[in-house]
Amino acid sequence: MARKGTHLTEEHKAQIRAKLKGRPLSAETRAKMSAARRGRYTRDEVRYRGAHDRAREHMAGSCGHCGADDRRLTVSLRHDTPVENLRVETTGCNARKPYSCDPADYITLCYSCHKLHDIREAPWLADVA
Ligand SMILES: [Zn+2]
Repeated sequence: MARKGTHLTEEHKAQIRAKLKGRPLSAETRAKMSAARRGRYTRDEVRYRGAHDRAREHMAGSCGHCGADDRRLTVSLRHDTPVENLRVETTGCNARKPYSCDPADYITLCYSCHKLHDIREAPWLADVA
């Protein structure tokens, strides 16, 4: 039966807290909590920024185009990403920018190569946006 709108007494809440304290958690739950503490994304579906943050965790140590390892490195969506992996937000500052939720669809590029990569070579901008 739905109990929407009812409030538990403080005593009842304390009983629930005491009962749950120290309960064993599954390995899966512990992994999720650990990831959340480190600010990592565990959901399959993330948005533009989350997808890039997640891809950064798999970033290589040098630029995939020029090989530089002493420049600011970024992750860039691969231009051969399968179309079915592409997502687009419709609102906000990242609207119309394609992204993928799969970190494997990103390549590590230095800032300079990333700009050239996206400005000169993005073949899908007309298709997806
Ligand atoms: Zn580079």
